[in-house]
Amino acid sequence: MSQVVRDPKGYYAMLGVTPAADAAAVKRAYRTRAKLLHPDRNPSPRASREFHALTEAYHVLADPAARQAYDTGRSPIAASGTGSGAAAADAALTPRTCRVCGRATIDLRHRVLHRVRGRGIRVERRPISGVFCRVHGDRTAVAASLYCWAMGWWALPWGPVATLAALWHNLWGGQLPAAENYQLLTFQARAFLARGNLPIARALAEQARPFAHSAAERQHVAQLLEALADQPRPRGGGGGGGGGRRPWFGSAQVAQLAPLLLIAALALYVAGPARVIGGLLALWPAPVPEQGPIGGATEDAGADALPGPQGPFTGRTRPPGAADPFAGLVPEAAAVVPGRLYAARPARLTVRATASPHAAAVAAVGGGTVLMVTEVSPDGAWSRVLSARGVSGYVPSVALAPAGAAAVEPEG
Ligand SMILES: [Zn+2]
Repeated sequence: MSQVVRDPKGYYAMLGVTPAADAAAVKRAYRTRAKLLHPDRNPSPRASREFHALTEAYHVLADPAARQAYDTGRSPIAASGTGSGAAAADAALTPRTCRVCGRATIDLRHRVLHRVRGRGIRVERRPISGVFCRVHGDRTAVAASLYCWAMGWWALPWGPVATLAALWHNLWGGQLPAAENYQLLTFQARAFLARGNLPIARALAEQARPFAHSAAERQHVAQLLEALADQPRPRGGGGGGGGGRRPWFGSAQVAQLAPLLLIAALALYVAGPARVIGGLLALWPAPVPEQGPIGGATEDAGADALPGPQGPFTGRTRPPGAADPFAGLVPEAAAVVPGRLYAARPARLTVRATASPHAAAVAAVGGGTVLMVTEVSPDGAWSRVLSARGVSGYVPSVALAPAGAAAVEPEG
């Protein structure tokens, strides 16, 4: 039967073929012209427009159903009874494609992946926004996250904050802006509808539903689904591109967290030796074993506390009229030996002019003051001592302790 073949949009003319050209000729013609007009080779805006028009023409003419609908001025939808004359225009709808691989897969999404660069006090945001298939969305997310890991931190105070936020978003495949994804998925659904691929169209309409927020958007999705209600769901779906968010944790997530694992491994490696050193320090013997429960002043403190001949003590003074500091002192078993150093045992030791408790006091020394014994009385009860500051006189021998184990009696 003879059909009236028209070229309402000039698709055949664009490709430089006649309406009688077979599929192979259409394909050859497209390839030849696409090479000339591809944006990678021909950067002029006009070439870009022509390239898109050419691609649109080719997609229609390469699809037998769409080509027949174009030739006869009706759409494949009209043939199935769900469309109208306006659907003929949809025959020209070219499905959008992944910006990386150029394929019109069912799992396309408009994604915004975050890249953050810190520079001193400035945080530069360089998001990557576009339509990606799942595979290339994941790969782009990994690349964006690695960029953030390397470049994001170096701004204060907000570099680390922005970097962590960007990494978090990228980890889940980037942000999916609702308006863009609603537009994308309903457009894709219409495009596949126009090309007669109705199961795919239905799947895309279902994917669009979560992104429809306004009443008009929801109604449009409902209309699409109603028109496609008798279509089976596509088997498997290739990428299982159901919702926008993925509930599983995949290799893309692992790749994005790899720097974190690396840092954790480094931290463990660094902390290991530190812990070993800390352990060694803890094993080091404590340096103060001689401090007995009595505690008290050292020789130095005693020397510092040496008074003038009559001056009052600061610190360890004994109030006048208090009990005799020697009372209760047990004489040392070892006798005091002339020529050796001793320390004053009472907190305040009175040095007297003669070997008698009733003799006049010539000075008083603080506990722990180092005294050299120059002479010992025949009964050993009294020692003549000389301090480093020149104080000379007699003290009871029981008030002297061997200088090495300077122990000062606590004040009564
Ligand atoms: Zn892709």
